Amino acid sequence: MTGILTSPLLSQLACVEHGFGTRDAVFSQTGMVSLRQIHSSLLRVADRDSGCAGEGDALITDRPGVRISVRTADCFPVLIADPNRRVVAAVHAGWRGTAARIVGHVVQRMIAEFGSKPAGIHAAIGPGIGACCYEVGAEVARQFGLDRAGTIDLAHFNREQLLAASVPETQIDTIGGCTFCDPARFHSYRRDGARAGRMISFIRVLDSVPV
Ligand SMILES: [Zn+2]
Repeated sequence: MTGILTSPLLSQLACVEHGFGTRDAVFSQTGMVSLRQIHSSLLRVADRDSGCAGEGDALITDRPGVRISVRTADCFPVLIADPNRRVVAAVHAGWRGTAARIVGHVVQRMIAEFGSKPAGIHAAIGPGIGACCYEVGAEVARQFGLDRAGTIDLAHFNREQLLAASVPETQIDTIGGCTFCDPARFHSYRRDGARAGRMISFIRVLDSVPV
């Protein structure tokens, strides 16, 4: 499909399909499970095959065939898969979710509820606003250990949270690309304001594994 970025790491997993939509992607969230995103650390286990699963910023499922999805425009989409337990997660991580360690909470939930082991977990951090462009005020900067206004690298903090949850370094992929400074490829809320579009990222466990 056009306009969809994939992680070489997640693409190696035969039982998983995933994609990070760019502004050129032609698909919608119709037929996928979605959330009313509220910049929280609230997780939802997908209890349906499609449609809105309620408020929250991360979806987890082990239901084969069910696509779970998040929308972003500067915030980071993070897609997570455990091919051993056949469970996947889609996370919306902006500064609030990252400060609230949403990715770490998702890994803990995969372990507690689905029997995942950190050594089996694979994660890909999609495109979001890069450290090149993400200037924040002192109040936000303090949430990330800085003492004054400056730029922060949300991809870095999400990666650190995955490492802190014992996900192996070799099983964490960062797609790269900055949504703010690459208007040809990405929507950016900070750049385009209220008229900014959203990009859809999704992941699912396949019904039957291709041989
Ligand atoms: Zn940039």
